[in-house]
Amino acid sequence: MSHLRLNLLTGRWVTMVAHRAERPTDFRPRSPQVETDSTRPCPFCPEQQHDVPAVLEHRGPDGLWHQRIIANLYPAFDGDEPFAVHHHGPVHIEAAASGIHEVFISSRDHTAPPEGRTPDDAIATADLLRTRLLQHAELPNLRYTQAIINHGREAGASLAHPHGQLLALPFVPGEILDEQRAFGRFEGGCVLCATVEAESVDGTRIVLANDEVVVVSPYWAGTPYELLIIPRAHAAHLPDSTDESLHAVAVGLQDAVGTLRHRHGDVAYNAVLHTAPHAYVGSYHWHIHLFPKLISTAGFERGTGVMINIVTPETAAGELRQALVSQ
Ligand SMILES: [Zn+2]
Ligand SMILES: [Zn+2]
Ligand SMILES: [Zn+2]
Repeated sequence: MSHLRLNLLTGRWVTMVAHRAERPTDFRPRSPQVETDSTRPCPFCPEQQHDVPAVLEHRGPDGLWHQRIIANLYPAFDGDEPFAVHHHGPVHIEAAASGIHEVFISSRDHTAPPEGRTPDDAIATADLLRTRLLQHAELPNLRYTQAIINHGREAGASLAHPHGQLLALPFVPGEILDEQRAFGRFEGGCVLCATVEAESVDGTRIVLANDEVVVVSPYWAGTPYELLIIPRAHAAHLPDSTDESLHAVAVGLQDAVGTLRHRHGDVAYNAVLHTAPHAYVGSYHWHIHLFPKLISTAGFERGTGVMINIVTPETAAGELRQALVSQ
């Protein structure tokens, strides 16, 4: 059973998930690609009929689904216990890691990329995520849901089948609290609406843009080729967006990954959805961060939180625009 421990030096929660160490692939020697173990059938392939966790949502006809969401067999967050902090002496503070941990499978095709092979894959997956986000928001004790895609061994993926994860948490995590504060202290309206406007005028950091979405290499990018996918229409919560806006962002992510792949090959990456916490009513503008795993962070970054980026966002965006036209 997982539990949370408070890091008193940072004020951030750490999740202790003992049973994850037993997962067969976690501590294998590192190789850049996720290897397929031929002795074990892929648990996410449609042919797999045994030990399939509960199917929570699906797209496409029953038995012939195109995308689906299933429970995670190794949940890091589980149960509906209310969030209660227990002090065991002055420095040992813990809480139950209650919540939900789900897997979204973006294609039945084992060899498709995790962001889906076609725009229809990306759009259907985004619709499924919206459905689950709305359901999570209705449940008591859940404060925030994090959607992620990890692609490639270097980015933390352990299975090759195209998939991502949804983790519903009983607290609002530190990264989101930091962003909430940033939206709160920005004086010129919304930080990301202002970013879209300023970057559109400047143009040097824009990778692609249309009526609904802007993909930009942010001015403050901390890692090479880091990208931000921003819906033009202001909405704090992803489910508040129109279909047009949501679908354009889904396809924008897919295009952004495609461009990176064209420039750098099958690069490992993390895609991270940031949407306002479920009951949050303050200023926020949902977005997706795309972090290609081209370098590893080292001692200075760990020690200070100050990133050193060896490729300026202007260079990165220029190269990716070039890759886009030669695709
Ligand atoms: Zn598979
Ligand atoms: Zn905005
Ligand atoms: Zn963010």
